[in-house]
Amino acid sequence: MKKIVVAIDGFSSCGKSTMAKQLAKQVGYIYVDTGAMYRAVGLFGLQNGIITKNNIDEQKLAEKIYNLKIYFKNINGVQHVFLNDVDVESKIRTLETGDAASRVSAVAFVRKALVAQQQKMGENKGVVLDGRDIGTVVFPDAELKIFVTASAEVRAQRRFDELVQKGENPDYEEVLKNITERDYRDTHRVESPLRQASDALLLDNSFLTKEQQYKKILEWFKYKTQ
Ligand code: C5P
Repeated sequence: MKKIVVAIDGFSSCGKSTMAKQLAKQVGYIYVDTGAMYRAVGLFGLQNGIITKNNIDEQKLAEKIYNLKIYFKNINGVQHVFLNDVDVESKIRTLETGDAASRVSAVAFVRKALVAQQQKMGENKGVVLDGRDIGTVVFPDAELKIFVTASAEVRAQRRFDELVQKGENPDYEEVLKNITERDYRDTHRVESPLRQASDALLLDNSFLTKEQQYKKILEWFKYKTQ
């Protein structure tokens, strides 16, 4: 079976990472959660006063970005992201860090630095990456491109449930607002805006179960690797 690059792009909280992880595990591919990398930069910005409520200190960020060490490590079967050798997996999953990630991901030099790392991670193929620009910018020649979407309300409910499961006490309206704001920023930014690549397969999972959607993806994967 030939090794390929699988690019999964789409809106926030539509289950991209769950399906990407599941596929990578089943077919023995490396999984790269590119959103986690932008979240790590967002967290770094928040922790160091580079990202504040109304501003990003781009000069300071530019000085630091190429020295940031961002990598993944498998801890008890779960992929964790490390920032400068500190496990920040739980810290990057908050609404605040998601918001900082979305803001910082519009900065051209941040994208340039992370895209280069992602291309290196996938240079030998046999990789599943999920994000916003994988099929359009990071791997425009990926053999299998999937664009995932679902209504904002369905996604907000899923995210809300996820946060509750983690023991947090979220407000549904705030979660929905966070998602619609991120959608807007991701699709309207000048640098690599979120869009469906012309050769990507569309997967609207608003009314699909996880099993139904996974079956579809696996069929596509088998077809492309034959
Ligand atoms: O996928 P996730 O929600 O973790 O990503 C966090 C943020 O990082 C997104 O809102 C998006 O703005 C940004 N991102 C991006 N390009 C990617 C992955 C994520 O701009 N490839």
